[in-house]
Amino acid sequence: MSDAPRIVLLPGDGIGPEIVAAATQLLEALGEFDFDERLMGGCSIDAHGVALTDEVLAACRESDAVLLGAVGGPKWDTTDPDAPRPEQGLLGLRKGMGLYANLRPVRPSPALVGASPLREERIAGTDLLVVRELTGGIYFGDSGRDGDSAHDTCEYSTAEIERIARTGFEAAQRRAGGGSHTPRVTSVDKANVLETSRLWREVVGRVASDYPGVELDHLLVDNAAMQLVSRPAEFDVIVTENLFGDILSDESAMLTGSLGMLPSASLGEAGAPGLFEPVHGSAPDIAGQGIANPLATFLSAAMMLRHGLGRPGDAERIESAVDVVLERGLRTPDLAAADDTSVGTDAMTEAVLNQLFA
Ligand code: NAD
Repeated sequence: MSDAPRIVLLPGDGIGPEIVAAATQLLEALGEFDFDERLMGGCSIDAHGVALTDEVLAACRESDAVLLGAVGGPKWDTTDPDAPRPEQGLLGLRKGMGLYANLRPVRPSPALVGASPLREERIAGTDLLVVRELTGGIYFGDSGRDGDSAHDTCEYSTAEIERIARTGFEAAQRRAGGGSHTPRVTSVDKANVLETSRLWREVVGRVASDYPGVELDHLLVDNAAMQLVSRPAEFDVIVTENLFGDILSDESAMLTGSLGMLPSASLGEAGAPGLFEPVHGSAPDIAGQGIANPLATFLSAAMMLRHGLGRPGDAERIESAVDVVLERGLRTPDLAAADDTSVGTDAMTEAVLNQLFA
């Protein structure tokens, strides 16, 4: 058997196959990988009647990392509660692979700061990472109705907080990479009101003592929501619980103004494979036209190299190639201003490929 990292590719539906094929070309240029392409999402429903088969889940669990395109589309939209749905595959993967941390970096490419809804001087220099806890909190606590009242319960255990805090501190260390900036974790909670937040703050503070090179500060979630739009460039790593992270990661995503540029990673226990995917969906409106923006998938492959395969140098190579190509003015139609000429997926891929070793 080869020593090459084993990557399960889940292209999915819509533009998924186009952007995953493009990212595969980039990875092949960077080294040897053992790719194992599988069906997940609507395409798996068509072939097997379920969005994720046990066999595909097993392949993902045994891999070194999983790279996903996107799933879903009008063909599988249904109001029948018993019919299989493509997103069940995503939930099945999260659960079956034990993924409890979602990482979303927000680093607007300098050439695209004009696309941000924020003024250029506010967004310039932003390079932050939101680390969201995925498996606990109010989304998974007891909920119910009692007559004309309803309740949703937020619960967190020390162990759940400790492991996500470690993910945050380790991500901060990795991002700093021994360079000149002091890594910083901002832990976000609502400790003035919620008991789970007081436990959160206590545990994160304790975990911090294992990472003496990383600064820690605490912010209340309402304040964090404001600071993200008023001084985004001052954040490094934000660590927060499920509900706050759901909201703050979408708020942060909008800071760039370009959906086709945003990567994400979902990680589990150390050493277990992670799942890497663009934030956008399957864009059925443009599928098959050769115009999908592959850059979010390229940046997801970079996250896979950095966080999943321990190859930060290759990750940086992809990220800086993307920056240079954008700097030169290349744009897929979703990024192009009215008077820009745009290029398709293949030309964008070729330009980034050529830049990798320039
Ligand atoms: P979407 O992200 O697919 O598309 C929103 C808009 O952005 C569309 O106009 C689309 O053309 C454009 N767009 C998105 N990614 C692009 C890219 N890489 N290049 C160029 N343009 C891009 O969101 P939607 O339209 O709400 O959802 C479409 C389908 O995707 C639905 O079935 C939805 O359930 C699914 N979805 C899947 C995921 C996932 O797989 N993780 C996430 C979100 C939505």
